[in-house]
Amino acid sequence: MPSNRPNIVLVFTDDQGYGDVGCFGSPYISTPNLDRMASEGAKFTSFYAGAPVCTPSRAALMTGSYPTRVGLEEGVLFPGDDEGLHPDEVTIADLLSEAGYATTCIGKWHLGDTEPFLPTDHGFDSYFGVPYSNDMGAAQSGGEYRELPLMRDAETVEAPAEQTTLTRRYTEEAVEFIERNRDGPFFCYLPHTMPHVPLETSETFSDVSKRGDYGDVVEEIDWSVGRILETLDRLGIADETLVVFASDNGPWLDKEIDGGSAGRLAGGKFDVDEGGPRVPAIARWPGEIPAGSVCDELVTAMDMLPTFAALAGTTPPGGRKIDGEDARELLFEPEDAASPHDYYLYQDFEGQPGAVRDAEGWKLHLESGELYDLHTDVEEEYDVAADNPDAVARLRNAGEEIIADLSENARPVGCVDRGG
Ligand code: MG
Repeated sequence: MPSNRPNIVLVFTDDQGYGDVGCFGSPYISTPNLDRMASEGAKFTSFYAGAPVCTPSRAALMTGSYPTRVGLEEGVLFPGDDEGLHPDEVTIADLLSEAGYATTCIGKWHLGDTEPFLPTDHGFDSYFGVPYSNDMGAAQSGGEYRELPLMRDAETVEAPAEQTTLTRRYTEEAVEFIERNRDGPFFCYLPHTMPHVPLETSETFSDVSKRGDYGDVVEEIDWSVGRILETLDRLGIADETLVVFASDNGPWLDKEIDGGSAGRLAGGKFDVDEGGPRVPAIARWPGEIPAGSVCDELVTAMDMLPTFAALAGTTPPGGRKIDGEDARELLFEPEDAASPHDYYLYQDFEGQPGAVRDAEGWKLHLESGELYDLHTDVEEEYDVAADNPDAVARLRNAGEEIIADLSENARPVGCVDRGG
């Protein structure tokens, strides 16, 4: 295990599907910088978000806990909601900040749009971004909501946010943060607003891809990844920096919407089929993560908190239950180490348990009783429940245990009275 505490850059995209990266198989979207990250690091092919939709997924990422454990499992937050991530929750940023890291959040937050729920209330020294989804502005909601705010810390600095400029401006902010904190250690959380709809790019990336507006937006995000990697190289800190890329949930497949693709996975955003929570993920730390590796072990966004904590020389918060595991072995031995998990629980967009899988790749859909062997059938086409009654019983039992524990050991959602 490395002894030095790395800087950490976490690029987290919105609604980007499993098949929407070149090195994950897209023939239509060109992502040379993400592909470079994978060839210089590791690609994770069985990486699961905590939920198939934005708010619960981000709650899971930030707290290392299933969204049900922190009361944010049901749907997404809307502008002006009274709820948000409880101030007592300990986030990745809280832990890293206490461990001496400079921290920033640049992009879409979606865990509460007012104090005490903002990034600057949750361990980030600074915040620049849009507090919820980019389709939740006045123009997109027929005037139901206020103009989409672009915020700096707790203040709105632009409304409506000029969406064509967001990816570029987020990137400039991130580069400046990294330059300012080059002596480290730092944590730069960069949750892009895109490719959630509406799809907007700068002029430079208009009509560049073979996959329409969606592809253009992903190619601008790839450019952004390239700018980050170049900055680390230029400052001579690439070897001291772990860069992680992942998406918050699968592609929005609604026919009215120009969303992404889950490749050969069934389903997308909102679903408990693989295309819902299984997302592309890449990690690069030159000299520490073996270049060009591929890891198919079960790993989740909830593992980032305990993993980053361990890398920073600290530990997850005591006195509470979290669901993530320290996944450092998978980072440093991606092709040899085993998953730190026995099971993973899939939840639908309303937070209801929908399926459970184990580390070997057996997946049971709880309601239908269908069983799939993901190693041979990642498309979930061949129900093999009848031939494998022991696996069905074991997975059902494991799912019930997780569900019971989540209801017994849930913590409250944050709530403020906004008079709404
Ligand atoms: Mg999303």
